[in-house]
Amino acid sequence: MYHNSFKRGGRRSSRTSSHSSHSSHGSHGSPHGGKSSSRQDSHFHGKPQSSSHGHGGHGRYAPRPHRGGAHFGRPQSRGKYIHPDTFINKTPVHVAMGEYKPKHLFADFGLNKTLEGNLTRIGFTTPTRIQDEAIHYILKQKDVIGLANTGSGKTAAFALPIIQKLHARKSGETALIMAPTRELAGQINDELTKFAHGLHVYSALCVGGMPIGKQMRELTRHPHVIIGTPGRLKDLVNRKALSLDSVSILVLDEFDRMLDMGFIKDIEFLIGKIPKNRQSLCFSATITPDIKKILEKILNEPVTVSVTSNVRSEHIAQDVIRAHSKEEKFAKLKEMLAHSAFEKVLIFGEMKRSVQKLADTLSKEGFKAEAIHGNKSQPQRDRALRAFRDGKVNILVATDVAARGLDIPNVSHVINFDQPNTREDYIHRIGRTGRAGKGGQAYTFIS
Ligand code: ADP
Ligand code: MG
Repeated sequence: MYHNSFKRGGRRSSRTSSHSSHSSHGSHGSPHGGKSSSRQDSHFHGKPQSSSHGHGGHGRYAPRPHRGGAHFGRPQSRGKYIHPDTFINKTPVHVAMGEYKPKHLFADFGLNKTLEGNLTRIGFTTPTRIQDEAIHYILKQKDVIGLANTGSGKTAAFALPIIQKLHARKSGETALIMAPTRELAGQINDELTKFAHGLHVYSALCVGGMPIGKQMRELTRHPHVIIGTPGRLKDLVNRKALSLDSVSILVLDEFDRMLDMGFIKDIEFLIGKIPKNRQSLCFSATITPDIKKILEKILNEPVTVSVTSNVRSEHIAQDVIRAHSKEEKFAKLKEMLAHSAFEKVLIFGEMKRSVQKLADTLSKEGFKAEAIHGNKSQPQRDRALRAFRDGKVNILVATDVAARGLDIPNVSHVINFDQPNTREDYIHRIGRTGRAGKGGQAYTFIS
């Protein structure tokens, strides 16, 4: 009746279960593209995601000693030289989410009972660190800078207080959530929908690449939460379809990335339309002096909650693979993918076109692969992502931007087919595996 962006429970439940399931692979006959013949003779000991110990990744792809100053086969277009050693971690530390001893239980936050019940149903038993440390400040209306890596549970950290605050709203106050990519915005919308089940808190997803007319219509219904990418939000404001006068909570998610992507002008434009008397929450994996300076203008006496540490990728086994030619690189990639341990693999490439080509070539070779990159339309990107999430394909080839912040459960391996440009990109890429404190394995091709 009211909003279609907040789907009713039934239809969402399948996605909910795929989020929490650890054994979603069992049901597909051959998720590995019918490559079983060569699996057994591979020396590859990639680690299946479901077991939490015994990381492999040695054997054939063990790195050879590097000579100082060796150069990669690809010109580094914007990043600095990254030493190959930083792509190696042979002694991953097991840091399960459950091992963090939170100071609070969800029940301690005084959340609405329906909201609490939803968390239990979804399987959120204890808060993650960022949730543990940020939620009570957010509930107390404080401005918060949350420094946390991907996979740390930021969405719930801001979504739960927003739902708590808005579910019984008397005035038309709203929350505005900005995220760097369409997919990330969509994911926030999905999570929020699950948390808000039965609470009549409605949201509108305002992202580029989707029909703007539908979004304009949704906005006329005055949703509680507006989630979007800065470009589209600005467009909607300019068309007078979106007014930010009623925004009382602003969330900037993955702020560092939004700046990287050149959204600062749009963000400033949007913030200029929001009343000063608001609560502002900003989440970022990194904080530089430049970012700090910008945040000083946006937030009001913020509390900083930092849960980043240098363990950010210590739980992910990492190794390099040396290949001297394109042919060798592709041959080695195929050998890896044919191995049964490579259950759900995210491959990163640098260019939109090469990413598509790699996915096409792998498909021709009998693998089940999809591609996700900026040249695809939003429905195409959604379809590819869903196919990967649901296990219809077990390989997703992606560019950095397209994959930013995606929460795909149980990715067993990340492969950097092309090297990342920066250390940050590297951390973000490999953070797609080892989500929610599980182990994971990352490989980076070097020449
Ligand atoms: P981030 O935004 O920091 O990258 P997300 O909010 O996407 O992280 O959370 C990562 C994953 O962890 C998601 O699948 C989410 O459902 C799960 N998760 C978050 N908080 C909890 C929790 N308290 N208990 C169990 N799982 C959680
Ligand atoms: Mg997130």
